[in-house]
Amino acid sequence: MKPWWTLWLLALLTPVHAEALRLQPGQDRYAVGPFLQVWEDVSARLGPAEVLAQRDRFVPVPDEQVTGGYSRSAWWYYLELDEAGAAGEWLLHVDYSALDYLDVWQVRGAAEPLSLYSGGDHVPFPQRPLLHSAFLVPFILQPQEHSALLIRVQTQGSIIMPLQILSKNAFIEDEESERLMLGGLWGGLLFLMLYNLLLYRNVRDRVYLYYCAYILAFVVGSLHLSGVGFHYLWPNWLWMQTGGLPVLFLLASFFANNFSRQLLDLKRRHPLLDRILYGFAVLHVICMLVFPLLPFQLSLYCTVAVVLSMGVFLMTAGVMSFVENYPPGRNYFLAWISLFIAVVIFALETMGLTHGSFISKWSLQIGAGVEALLFAIAMSDRINLFKQQTLQAQEKVVEQEKLLRIAQEEANRELEQRVDQRTRELAKVVEDLARVNEKLDRLNQLDELTLVFNRRAFNHRSATLLAQCKREQRSLAVLLLDIDHFKLVNDRHGHLAGDECLRRIAALVQARVTRPQDFVARLGGEEFVVVLYDTPADGALHVAERIRAEVQQTCFPWDDQCIPLTVSVGLCCGVPASWHEVEHFTGWADQALYQAKSDGRNRMVQRDLVTVVEFN
Ligand code: GH3
Ligand code: MG
Ligand code: MG
Repeated sequence: MKPWWTLWLLALLTPVHAEALRLQPGQDRYAVGPFLQVWEDVSARLGPAEVLAQRDRFVPVPDEQVTGGYSRSAWWYYLELDEAGAAGEWLLHVDYSALDYLDVWQVRGAAEPLSLYSGGDHVPFPQRPLLHSAFLVPFILQPQEHSALLIRVQTQGSIIMPLQILSKNAFIEDEESERLMLGGLWGGLLFLMLYNLLLYRNVRDRVYLYYCAYILAFVVGSLHLSGVGFHYLWPNWLWMQTGGLPVLFLLASFFANNFSRQLLDLKRRHPLLDRILYGFAVLHVICMLVFPLLPFQLSLYCTVAVVLSMGVFLMTAGVMSFVENYPPGRNYFLAWISLFIAVVIFALETMGLTHGSFISKWSLQIGAGVEALLFAIAMSDRINLFKQQTLQAQEKVVEQEKLLRIAQEEANRELEQRVDQRTRELAKVVEDLARVNEKLDRLNQLDELTLVFNRRAFNHRSATLLAQCKREQRSLAVLLLDIDHFKLVNDRHGHLAGDECLRRIAALVQARVTRPQDFVARLGGEEFVVVLYDTPADGALHVAERIRAEVQQTCFPWDDQCIPLTVSVGLCCGVPASWHEVEHFTGWADQALYQAKSDGRNRMVQRDLVTVVEFN
């Protein structure tokens, strides 16, 4: 089934003969265009007999297309036939399903024309003489008969008369391959449509919907062109048959537009092209609303113009996507190319340049099928692309998470290091502080002037030592030393001299106290105390005596002279009982000291043993 427009090409290439068509044995098909004669009945009121009366007005048809636009005239065709050994039943096939009125008579000599057919698009399908989607007019040719077919056509659009005369066999052969081909094509396309509808249900990508709508519009358009739609789908819907084609054409093109924009992601990738195509989509909608109001021919021309000019931009989008290596772009581009190649092959076939091979005859259908298939593949490319992009995005997220984790670990490590460092520094500070405290504590325990322990330190240390001696039942010795007549030293030499003497005596006493737990303290003024651990009376006496003697023998220099000094010592010594306090020892030692003073000074007195040793 050839669309009407391709037949123009055929007509252009065929020479014109206005003579009788000879039907002879061995030939099943005859293209009748070149044998046709035509006459325009402007009044459109004449009947066949009246027209035959004006037979001489008929002229050869230069072209199958008779009018270029709207015409109210009736057009009469006259086709002379000569039987030359092919008598029998033949079919006149008018391969243009958009004729509004079609009437055919057979003219045999002077007899009344025999009405063979009366139909057309303005007649509901069920009223056709032969219920077939094409206009088929059966007629009988007697042996040696010279008859003619008289055809009356009236239509709104162009009048195109692609006429063919076929034997029944040829028709059946054509019919089978054609039905198989068209059935296969429509079935395949509908299958693709349903399949993609299911895909849409899962994927929810509008591209599938547009694709399905495109296929549907394409299939309905194809059904329309073939006449099958009128036969089976809208047999009584005359508007659809007479004026629906441009709308179907626009509808398919509209969805192809939306499909392409979505498939190629033009909004994001080529916003300008997307806006242009969007404009075309809007134009399509307007055309669909307006064109049904225009004369058929005009609306068809405008439709072709709109669709073809949009096709340029669709092709541009395809080429750009292909060149840019956008994954769905390749098959999209190939799809249009395949349709384009199909059209070219079909055009060549129509011109008789391809010797009527199967592929060239059905190239349009094959091209449309391949196109639909390639579109479907392009959509799967698109899904793959999304998958890849999602995968890449996921990988990126994982990578970023990894980097983040590494950075976090690094930060944690740094923090730990810093905390460690700070802890160390703090520990050092604490240590330093402890050392300073210790030093401070020590300094606190020392007498500023003499640098021996002060009274506070004495109290603490002596108590500890007493407790230890009690525990261990060891002897504790407490020696109280008081410098004799020290007031005089101050009076004579001044306080500075006195201080110096105090320092020197302290150092002297300290030098005699060597055991670790023993210690010297300044109780105040010029009074010192020596505490000796685990020292029985004889040891303590020895120490006291040595100190006393050394002080006496020592020169305490001041202003180039020696200041003579002596000390009196009170000693209390013994193993402490549990009730003993340090005060007992110091009290008794003080009494002993008092006694030493009163006994004449520069001596040592011991309590408990009541031993008084006198020294001169
Ligand atoms: P004695 O003990 O032998 O009875 O006579 P004394 O002169 O030592 O008598 P006393 O104990 O009453 O006098 C203590 C004197 O020691 C009084 C003061 O002048 C002197 N003195 C006390 N503390 C200091 C001091 O820190 N520095 C100096 N330079 N002198 C002091
Ligand atoms: Mg004193
Ligand atoms: Mg004194």
